[in-house]
Parts: sequence; structure tokens; C-alpha cells
Amino acid sequence: MSLKTLDFSILQQCMHCGMCLPACPTYDTTKRERNSPRGRIALMRSVDTEELPITKSFADEMSYCLGCLACQTACPAGVDYATLFETARADIEQSGITATPTRSLYRFLTLNLLFTRPRLLRTFGKALRFYQTSGLETLVRKLHLTKLLPANLRRLEPQTPRISEKFSNQLIRSIESPTTSPVVRKVALLTGCIQDLAFSEINRDTADVLLANGCEVHTPPVQPCCGSIHSHNGETELARDTARRLIDLLPPEKFDAIISNAGGCGSHLRHYGHLLENDPAYSERAKLWDTKLRDIHEFLSETGFRRPTAAPFPEDTLVTYHDSCHLTHGQKVTLQPRLIIDLIPGLTRVELPEANWCCGSAGVYSVTQPEQAQLLLDRKVKHILSTNATILLTANPGCHLQIQSALPNLKILHPVSLLAQAYAKEPTANGR
Ligand code: SF4
Ligand code: SF4
Repeated sequence: MSLKTLDFSILQQCMHCGMCLPACPTYDTTKRERNSPRGRIALMRSVDTEELPITKSFADEMSYCLGCLACQTACPAGVDYATLFETARADIEQSGITATPTRSLYRFLTLNLLFTRPRLLRTFGKALRFYQTSGLETLVRKLHLTKLLPANLRRLEPQTPRISEKFSNQLIRSIESPTTSPVVRKVALLTGCIQDLAFSEINRDTADVLLANGCEVHTPPVQPCCGSIHSHNGETELARDTARRLIDLLPPEKFDAIISNAGGCGSHLRHYGHLLENDPAYSERAKLWDTKLRDIHEFLSETGFRRPTAAPFPEDTLVTYHDSCHLTHGQKVTLQPRLIIDLIPGLTRVELPEANWCCGSAGVYSVTQPEQAQLLLDRKVKHILSTNATILLTANPGCHLQIQSALPNLKILHPVSLLAQAYAKEPTANGR
């Protein structure tokens, strides 16, 4: 699909009211129309009607957009900005206007190789962990050898996620059943890519919470990427391939729910129906998939999770919650994480000012747009510090890494980990 073949009604839906402008972080920075959702949609419409060719400046504008979807939440006309944005990025890639040999090589190594081969990604993760834990990383930094890296990789280096000792397949068996209660639901658990390498304990915590709530949990040890990274970077065909592989691995007809615990992945995962609508072999199953896909907070709230009886931390521990853009704007999951946090004993939650304002992570945004990413991060940090919270809760690995890079001593947890820790403190077995 391209802007030229996209259903014109999607482009026409914008009525230029400007209600989205105050919600847009890039417009907020520059106050320029072209950096606003309305301005970008106008540019896309010009490309669609062939008044404007795909130029470098059009590509730059789409790269400056965070894809945070705050505009979609603010829009009273229901403009589908996510589809417009991903279609524009796909057009830009196909035009080749931004292609350079180095960029093409990076894209091939990441999008075509690493993020389509989960075993290779884990091998890469193990090598990275060796580098991080063997003293090599310390030596490289002491000798300032990172200066030899290309500029964009040099910027990324301090934010490289710390790779976990064990990945999800070493922490979670492929099928686990509750031991102290009957099975009430059969669910599939998605382990993600970065989540699997750097936050596998969150996947373990998610499985524990599901078990404690009577779920039989199916977690295939090797799972393909959900395709979110491909879609956001204009590689729609690769995104379709990975969606088909995931549907084959976890047939939606076999489960009561398919659980995602990463905001960015979930936002993409729940739109397989749209992604595969023209694929006769998969379109029906993809639609069924969408009806089964649930963010973990959403699932727990819908099914009525058990309130823990024990406090995970000392009484009156102050916590605050940062909304990941793709959980709040992409999936409209805002109240459920707060509800879960508020039902855990011993915590006092203080609302984070501008909790749903992007932290600047947005995929590889801190590499492609470092200045704007830093501005957003500084703004987020200021608000977090103003709460005096000792724990920040958030449900997306990108946000976690971005904020942790600025506040290395702050404890950051996923709400589901908090719930798992509360269950684990109960005097009786939690069902695992
Ligand atoms: S996705 Fe975010 S940055 Fe892009 S136009 Fe919408 S609000 Fe602005
Ligand atoms: S709020 Fe919606 S309809 Fe209004 S200008 Fe923004 S995108 Fe267009």
C-alpha cells in the first residue's frame, strides 16, 4: 500500500480543526505548522494527489514525527494517523530518497537479519552480554574507543540495554499450569525481542501473574518478532511475513487470549487484521487474532484479577506511572495499569505530570533525532523528579531504557512485576 493507493477517505478525514496541535510534541517545540499532525497530513495529501513528489524534505518531516500517536487521541474526527504515518514511511523507503550505502547496510543487518531470526538475535544478545560483563566494555570506554564508532552508533552506545543473564526460554517453560487452582483460561504469552533480551524477568513475572489468576500459559521458546519495528520503519512486507509466522506459531483459535506486555509491540500486534486484509490465506485468522490480542493490564482488568494481600515494598512507598505512547494512544490502555497499581497494598501512587507526553524514546528516535529526543527526555525527567517517587512504573522497554539512561539510580519497574512481587510476598503459594 502507498499513499497513492490508500483509501482517500483516510486522507480526507482531517477537517483541519487543529485540536491535535497542542498534543503534538514536535509542534510544541517548533510551533511550525509543518511539524504538526495537520501539517504532515497536508503534506501526505499533496503526495497522494501528486502535487508534491517524495522529497528529502518530506522524508525529514516524517522522520521528525515521533509516531507517538498523541494526535490520534486528540483528534475529534477519528483520523487514523497511525496508518497514514506508516504508509508515508513505507513510500519514503520505496522511493530510495534516503538510501545511502551505510544506512542500507544498517537496515539490512537489523530489519532483514536480526529482527527476522530470533535465534540469531539471541546469539547477538549473548555476544553483547559477554562484551558487557567481561570487562571489555569498561576497557573500551576507558580507552575512549567508542570515538571510533560512526556518530549515530556513538550516540546510541550509552543506551545499549543491559542484556539479561537468561532469556525467556530459560525462565519460562513452554506450557505452565497453575498448581493451586483450576485452569480457567488458556492464554499465549508473547515474549518480544528487546523484552526477551533485556527484560526477560518481566516475561517471567507476567507468566507468574497469569498463573496466579488461573491461566494455563503457553510460551513458545522461540518466537519471531511481532513486526512492529518493520512497520514503523517502512518495511511493510517484512511486517506481514512476521505476522504470518506468529499467527502460525500461536493459532488464535486455540487460545482465550494472546497476551502482550510491551506497549510498542501490543499497539502493532492488535492490527494484524488490517495488515493482512488482502491476504486470502490469513485475513480471517488475522481478524480473529486481533479479537484475542490483549495487553496484560487490559486482560487482568477484564477478567478480574485477584487483589494481592501482601505489600511488595515497605508501607507508603511512593510510586508514579509513565504512560507509554503506544499503550495509551495506540491501545487506549490508560486506566487499567493505574487500577492495578492502586490495588497493590502498601503503595501510594502520585500522578506524574504530563504522564502521557512522549519521553523521546520512540524506537530509534534518539539516534535519528537526538536533539528533540533529549528535549523530551529532559522534560520527562523534570516531572518524574517533581513527584519524589522512589519507583517509576512503565510498560514499554523503550521508555524504560530511555528514562533509565537519564536516571540510572531510579528504580523502574513494569506494573506486572510489582503485582508478581506482591503475590510472591503472600504467605500462601501463588499458583505457580
Ligand atoms: S505522531 Fe506524535 S509527533 Fe507525530 S504528528 Fe502525531 S502527535 Fe505529532
Ligand atoms: S485534530 Fe484531527 S481533524 Fe483536526 S487537524 Fe488534527 S488530525 Fe485534522
